[in-house]
Amino acid sequence: MNHQNLLYKIPPEILKVINDLKTASFEAYLVGGCVRDLLLNNPPKDYDIATNAKPEEISKVFPESVTTYAKFGTVLVLTKDEHKETHPVEVTTYRSEMDYRDGRWPMKVEFTSKLSKDLGRRDFTINALAMEIKDNETDIIDLFNGVSDLHKGVIRAVGTPQLRMEEDGLRGFRACRLASTLEFEVEGETFSAISKAKSVSAQVSVERIRDEFIRLLMESHKPSIGIELLRRTGLLELFLPELLEGIGVTQPEYHVDDVYHHLLACVDVALDELKLAALFHDIGKPRVKNVEFEQKYLQRLLKKGKVIPKHHFFGHDEESARMTEEILVRMKFPKVEIKKTVSLVRWHMFYYQDEWSDGAVRRFIKRVGGEENVDLLFKLRIADADSNPKSEFTPAEIQKLEERIAEVRAKEMILSVNDLAINGKDLMGLGVPEGPIIGQILQHLLKEVIEDPILNEREKLLSISKNQIKNKL
Ligand code: ATP
Ligand code: MG
Repeated sequence: MNHQNLLYKIPPEILKVINDLKTASFEAYLVGGCVRDLLLNNPPKDYDIATNAKPEEISKVFPESVTTYAKFGTVLVLTKDEHKETHPVEVTTYRSEMDYRDGRWPMKVEFTSKLSKDLGRRDFTINALAMEIKDNETDIIDLFNGVSDLHKGVIRAVGTPQLRMEEDGLRGFRACRLASTLEFEVEGETFSAISKAKSVSAQVSVERIRDEFIRLLMESHKPSIGIELLRRTGLLELFLPELLEGIGVTQPEYHVDDVYHHLLACVDVALDELKLAALFHDIGKPRVKNVEFEQKYLQRLLKKGKVIPKHHFFGHDEESARMTEEILVRMKFPKVEIKKTVSLVRWHMFYYQDEWSDGAVRRFIKRVGGEENVDLLFKLRIADADSNPKSEFTPAEIQKLEERIAEVRAKEMILSVNDLAINGKDLMGLGVPEGPIIGQILQHLLKEVIEDPILNEREKLLSISKNQIKNKL
């Protein structure tokens, strides 16, 4: 590893903060993830500076700083780069102990004057490195053989793994996430310690687990590595037990893998914005592979006069969508993300036929959640097929529908009641009382306009409405 050119990778405003602290006779080091990333030649996400200066002393050196987190030893120093743009830099007083549990702010913080103590409380050896900047050169402080572990590609707890994992249940999730994004191994003793401390990991707040899991999915070249680690350590069961139901659920005619391994393979090839949908698209399959469920589902379809689907595991799209919603709500994902993902999972089995009218194409677009989702849905279908060597899917299928959609898009397209040529007030003008009936009539108009956009004119819609009112009132 070449340390010589590292200095030139560090932004000047960071170097200036370090320099200002040292000029004021304090110690100042780069610490944590940024040192690891610089040594690995990865761009650091942020730069953390550790110092023996106490929060109030840091604030004195940088009068413009913000001391929001002073209680925990962190001061945000506002620096300006050469374009006069402000950058907040976190400067943190050396801490010997912190209590990270429950996903709240640390309950307990202890300051220390020793860098060695600050490094010793950190989670993994590769995260416990410090970098000193002296006479325009960099020097690595490596008290726990972190550089050797970086070379070997190993995630190893600092100190006694068992104690460290029991101290803070989030560390197990962090180990899996880091191993996955860096494509490192979790060292044996650390691995067993994670498994053994499972009950502590079970107490971590769902928000923090969710955040680690998102990072694992989005920052890994192959998220399946991290998901497998979570499974093997036992952590996956704590927050995503549904995924494990797919293990051993084979689908010999259509798939090489069982449901679980197919979902992992699909995540690996999916785009970032599709990772969640890819992970969950078949999650309901194990539950529908059940005679009772099949019978009920078929009866429902027959009652509604619907065609019995050709594909296998019928009903799995609906069941997967239901489970996806349940999981994402439980993990407190944002509403828009849930809506998008559930809709992609729900419609991933779409089946296009040449006979579709323009109206049918428009109904399809509306059903899947609008034009944006249509493109994502196509990409999900491709990822689904790419991750299954037995897939009979041909891209031509999508291409035909894409062409039809482009044609229909070129014409007028109304997918929401807000775009109708009349509104609720107009209906009240026709004597409709305020209440749910207004919405019902507007929905009816929308249906008609999706079938035939030419109807979207004020006079025409008013005339259809009058008929509706006659029927309803
Ligand atoms: P990234 O740069 O990818 O965000 P990171 O390692 O910097 O990863 P942060 O959450 O920013 O992760 O934490 C910064 C540093 O704080 C870590 O490098 C590690 O030294 C320490 N740290 C973070 N979380 C913990 C924890 N739960 N237990 C012990 N040390 C921790
Ligand atoms: Mg960081």
